[in-house]
Amino acid sequence: MRILIVEDEVPVARQIAAALTEDGHDPKVVHSGEAALDEMSKKPFDLFVLDVRLPGIDGFELLRRLRTQHLASRVLLLTARSAVDDRVSGLQLGADDYLPKPFAMRELIARVRALGRRYPEEPVLSLRVADLTLDLSAHDVHRGVQKIELSPRELMLLKVLMREPGRVFTRTELCERVWEHEHEYDTKLVEVFIGRLRKKLGEPPLIHTIRHVGYTIQGLEATVPTPRKGHRQRRP
Ligand code: CA
Repeated sequence: MRILIVEDEVPVARQIAAALTEDGHDPKVVHSGEAALDEMSKKPFDLFVLDVRLPGIDGFELLRRLRTQHLASRVLLLTARSAVDDRVSGLQLGADDYLPKPFAMRELIARVRALGRRYPEEPVLSLRVADLTLDLSAHDVHRGVQKIELSPRELMLLKVLMREPGRVFTRTELCERVWEHEHEYDTKLVEVFIGRLRKKLGEPPLIHTIRHVGYTIQGLEATVPTPRKGHRQRRP
């Protein structure tokens, strides 16, 4: 990933850059918000490692500008351990994750890897499960030749399921993914939306309930997984 490290403490910045390079990334280091803006105007970055406390244009201001310009970039904030407010503001402004200082380099690497996984590099244009297709650019859904009208939320839920056919999602997981930015959500909502989706998708059913675990979408030809030993036994 192309990574921009914005950190005014030179030795810390250097260490981060060394660790990320070793992990196979292509990091660039700047020591001020102004320099970061300059770099951002030159080329796109996949990920920003952003210190919150910077002289001049600080991390929050950078994050604010980033979110209006580079929607696809991920942002990992570096915050002070005690500064809960910083983390909350950062997440509200659209940071993807934060790391309280001081941190171990291997922790930083783990966070960066996780953020890399969250967005696959190759854009997928459509998803398919059996005769069901979801076009990600047009946002429309077809079962065979039949077009299916879905609400934005139903579409989001279907997208989560279809990205990983056969994977069993708990209700909590689905809730977090589909209602992620809302403070109050209820796992019962998932049940309601799954019910609506099933109705709209028609027969034969593609969304299956895995007792005591959750839901999965699965093609007709595949066998529906049963909870294995060692599978997290959370109630769906
Ligand atoms: Ca700083």
